[in-house]
Amino acid sequence: MRLGIHLSVAGGPMRAAREARFLGLECLQIFAGTPRTWKQKPLLKADALAFRRAAGEAGLSPVVVHAPYLINLGAGDHALWRRSYLALASQLKRATALGADAVVVHPGSRGKRELEWGLERVAEGARRALDAAGQGAALWLENTAGGGGHLGGELGQLAMLLDRLEGLPCGAVIDTAHAFAAGYAIDGFDQARALVDRLDAELSLKRVKMWHLNDTDFPAGSLRDRHAHLGKGLLGEGCFAALVTDQRLAHMGGVMETPKDTRWADRRNLAFLRRLRRRGAAKA
Ligand SMILES: [Zn+2]
Ligand SMILES: [Zn+2]
Repeated sequence: MRLGIHLSVAGGPMRAAREARFLGLECLQIFAGTPRTWKQKPLLKADALAFRRAAGEAGLSPVVVHAPYLINLGAGDHALWRRSYLALASQLKRATALGADAVVVHPGSRGKRELEWGLERVAEGARRALDAAGQGAALWLENTAGGGGHLGGELGQLAMLLDRLEGLPCGAVIDTAHAFAAGYAIDGFDQARALVDRLDAELSLKRVKMWHLNDTDFPAGSLRDRHAHLGKGLLGEGCFAALVTDQRLAHMGGVMETPKDTRWADRRNLAFLRRLRRRGAAKA
């Protein structure tokens, strides 16, 4: 697996590209603006070009943009739904300008409405966003912790969404902390490998584009979405060792979205994964 981190773009996207290079990352995730507001500062053309060049020189692949959290493609309220797919379209355009491969988005919440309604609503929102954005970055749907009507807690729901988006540039991102929160007990080497088997059966690994490697302090099925440092939570070394050494996932990016509570946090988490990957390579 290609290892990367979600890095801050405070101070411009170039800062993230520079830091990625400094850390020796192989892939990268950023926000293309502010994650918790609708209003987004304009992305300057020169900044986008500089980022694009630097990311290319650093060999970062994939480079992805995580969509802001306010976007809800499953919203029942028409105005919010429309605002959501238009905001997603603008993220796709930004990602394209930055030379990024894709935008990662959570499918959204259907509230108390039926599953079928929710799946179609999200798929239609995604279609409209891709249509409005035109050719460029792909759209990758991330699995969620579930709960609150959030789609994509069950991996089968991601498959159903991708079926509806067949023919469009779409794929799935699997977040380990979300999967665990949604009830997939991947707290061990064999359990994590079993998840990969299951993904292949339910979704097809061809449609899985990237991983989010996060640990968590909350038990399986808790529906709680809070990320912990790798190896310090309940998922443990086995889970991450299984994923970073699985040959079926070797070409995929694995991005950490772990806390940045100390200056060394990113470096420590990265070193943790590199050690597991090296150990796996030595055994093979
Ligand atoms: Zn996410
Ligand atoms: Zn995630």
